[in-house]
Amino acid sequence: MISSFINNQYVESQSERHLPVYDPATGEVQNQVGLCSKQEVEQAITIAQEALDSWAKITPLNRARVMFKFKTLLEQNRDELANIISREHGKVFSDALGEITRGLEVVEFACGIPHLQKGEHSLNVGTGVDSHSQMMPLGVVAGISPFNFPVMVPMWMFPIAIATGNTFILKPSEKNPSAPLFIADLLKQAGLPDGVFNVVQGDKEAVDTLLQDPRVEAVSFVGSTPIAEYIYSEGAKYGKRVQALGGAKNHMVVMPDADIDGAVNALMGAAYGAAGERCMAISVAVAVGDETGDALARHLQDKLATLKVGPGYGQEIENDMGPLITKEHKQKVCGYIQKGQEEGAALLVDGRELELAQSSDGFFVGGTLFDQVTTDMTVYQEEIFGPVLCIVRVNTYQEALQIINDHEYGNGTAIFTADGDTARDFSANVHIGMVGVNVPIPVPMAFHSFGGWKRSLFGPLHMHGPDGVRFFTRMKTITIRWPESDVKVGSKDSIQTQAEFVMPTMK
Ligand code: NAD
Repeated sequence: MISSFINNQYVESQSERHLPVYDPATGEVQNQVGLCSKQEVEQAITIAQEALDSWAKITPLNRARVMFKFKTLLEQNRDELANIISREHGKVFSDALGEITRGLEVVEFACGIPHLQKGEHSLNVGTGVDSHSQMMPLGVVAGISPFNFPVMVPMWMFPIAIATGNTFILKPSEKNPSAPLFIADLLKQAGLPDGVFNVVQGDKEAVDTLLQDPRVEAVSFVGSTPIAEYIYSEGAKYGKRVQALGGAKNHMVVMPDADIDGAVNALMGAAYGAAGERCMAISVAVAVGDETGDALARHLQDKLATLKVGPGYGQEIENDMGPLITKEHKQKVCGYIQKGQEEGAALLVDGRELELAQSSDGFFVGGTLFDQVTTDMTVYQEEIFGPVLCIVRVNTYQEALQIINDHEYGNGTAIFTADGDTARDFSANVHIGMVGVNVPIPVPMAFHSFGGWKRSLFGPLHMHGPDGVRFFTRMKTITIRWPESDVKVGSKDSIQTQAEFVMPTMK
């Protein structure tokens, strides 16, 4: 049974509720995860609250030193962690390593917390009066993460949360719960005191407890849009600070002047990497002009014939793409392919017909390509979260821009072009949070912030980078006046000689 990790110890849930954890590459149940009850989550909150005071008082430099040690341990244990990811998520080993690297970069960013949390200072805001602002920790904060990045997404959250002096409770996805436990153990080895980082395994019951408990100050969420909306409104109802990142439908515009080979290679990786289970995956290629559309369709079809699909681990020659996360998700993705056909899209490559080198009950779907997709089709409108790429053909750049701006999601987008003027116009006018110019997956680095627009993010602040520091701290501004040197400290003239009833202004 996969446990939780509370107060620096592995803790088995006593709730007697559990869920199977699959090996997506074989379809077999490899373990069970124990789901925490409301009382068990409340106990974890109590422990995080008890750890808070002393952790918040530790100097930022010493908190950063724990992060430095954690970074070294992560580097030393990278392969083992990637293996755990690959076995529960299904993604190929090198992709799991890439996910760890992107998480590690946030740890590196958090190592600079003494600088990031300095606040601001103004000398002489008035005569003899100084003012400074301090970025204070919030208290007990929680993170709720999705299955598709079991390491990177929690690491968008907790390194900054704990480096700024909060204590943290992570509720990982119940579909791949082991990697966060491995991380918790590394944090303990790095010297993180008891109760500062806790993992509670669970489902809606655990999430609702974190949302409703008044001792939890903030909730950081990443997952699908319907759940993100729920988290945002429920969190707000209980007075919490919330950032809730949701789903996506990311478009890549290919202009007639683009290098087609470069665009096709970019689309292959961005659409089919991690079996399309990335919130920044490209799921729509917008071809400007029929010649571009024909070239994309032809080249992508050829490339798909060489796409290596199979288990993500244990292979001498690595596959390009692994299985989907569950049987239900495979059925959902296949349902979308069926729907696309019924609604009249041209199915150029059908991933349901995939033949694997070795027969398997794993949750595999091959790379799928639709052409002649229109904006009224379900495969265009909804997030599929699988290896399905739709080509939409338009006549002009303006049409391409318009359909992207009209879509309900606004996470990421890209344009492939040789024309700087078009790229500049696109960057300025597209209503999307993260934009790539000749870069298919424009995931911001750790020292910038990550987040979408429209129904891809609820809440004002993005993840990690400067927004991450703002999200996990609250500002306190202190205005100070000391008696001038010729006034005897403690005398009746020293601070305030008479009551003033007008709005204070600096003299
Ligand atoms: P999900 O919404 O099903 O689950 C996310 C988390 O919410 C999990 O921890 C889960 O246990 C919890 N949860 C599920 N149902 C709940 C409920 N009814 N009440 C309370 N909590 C609940 O998402 P998923 O399938 O794990 O992940 C895939 C989704 O995440 C995709 O939509 C993808 O686009 C999105 N995602 C977005 C980003 C981003 O940065 N915008 C990043 C990664 C993934």
